[in-house]
Amino acid sequence: MLLPKELGQLKHLEKKHVLLPVGADHPFSTIKKKKAPCNRQGGLLKGWNKPEQKGFSVNELWNYQSAIAVGIRCDNLFVLDIDGETANSKVIDLGLGGGADTWTIRRTGEQHYYKRIFLPTKEQINAIPPNSKGKKELHFRVYTKEEKDSREAIEFFGHTPGRQVIVQGQHFSTNGRYTTRIGEEPKNLRPPTVREWNIVLRLARQYAGEKVPPPGLVLKNKTSWKRLAECPICNRNERVVCSISEDRQTISCFHGLTFYPPTGLKKGEVIFGTWAYSKTEERSFGTFSTFVRHRPSSLELLNRRLQISG
Ligand SMILES: [Zn+2]
Repeated sequence: MLLPKELGQLKHLEKKHVLLPVGADHPFSTIKKKKAPCNRQGGLLKGWNKPEQKGFSVNELWNYQSAIAVGIRCDNLFVLDIDGETANSKVIDLGLGGGADTWTIRRTGEQHYYKRIFLPTKEQINAIPPNSKGKKELHFRVYTKEEKDSREAIEFFGHTPGRQVIVQGQHFSTNGRYTTRIGEEPKNLRPPTVREWNIVLRLARQYAGEKVPPPGLVLKNKTSWKRLAECPICNRNERVVCSISEDRQTISCFHGLTFYPPTGLKKGEVIFGTWAYSKTEERSFGTFSTFVRHRPSSLELLNRRLQISG
């Protein structure tokens, strides 16, 4: 549900930025999250990530029945997505967690999960190193914790119509809300400082060299497999090359520089309660790990029931 008071804070952004109604599921996503831009029927808003898609006014969003949240497209924005306690410490260590406040999106009850949004200057945008497609877009991830069932990371992204950030409304899977604190409101949106931007660019250069095999090669001899729009193992959601079998029981997850599956797992070890590690193979076009959907034993099922009822 959208609130008029919150929506009003976005009024000054509606012309220069692309605001989007949010409430659909990403195609092929295995978990219902309702974090994608939606059309009036609640389905995916096709072409939301194309420059031709213009933004919605605050008034239009207020009257948009299927929207449970509002997103802002990252055409001119830079975002630090902090995911977890170790990510929170790391962003401070890096020198990107302090300074003057900027627009920050938090979630009710989740202290260490938040997004800092910045508005880089033209000069700062120009200094972004081109990616493999020659575009000055930012997208990489710095992992800060890699344990079997929990991975934490800072994700850096920006200057791309291909991403949007949810800034208001309902967080579907927890039924919490996206919130902002006083001093971290939309009106506080600021450019990164020279020092902050230098840190971001240094890391970007380090991560820009990722080579991803072409999809045709990845799916060769795997005719009924599909590429995952968002891999549940490594969370890769761009230049997607992780794939899932037609019966949805097996995932092949690519080891890239920016996204990669947990390493050091033993055969049969289950991660995220769902996927059992099977093997890792070096192929001519890259390294892939195979995960198979875990069938819980009757004892595990009993334990889960006891945990839920207790
Ligand atoms: Zn993956």
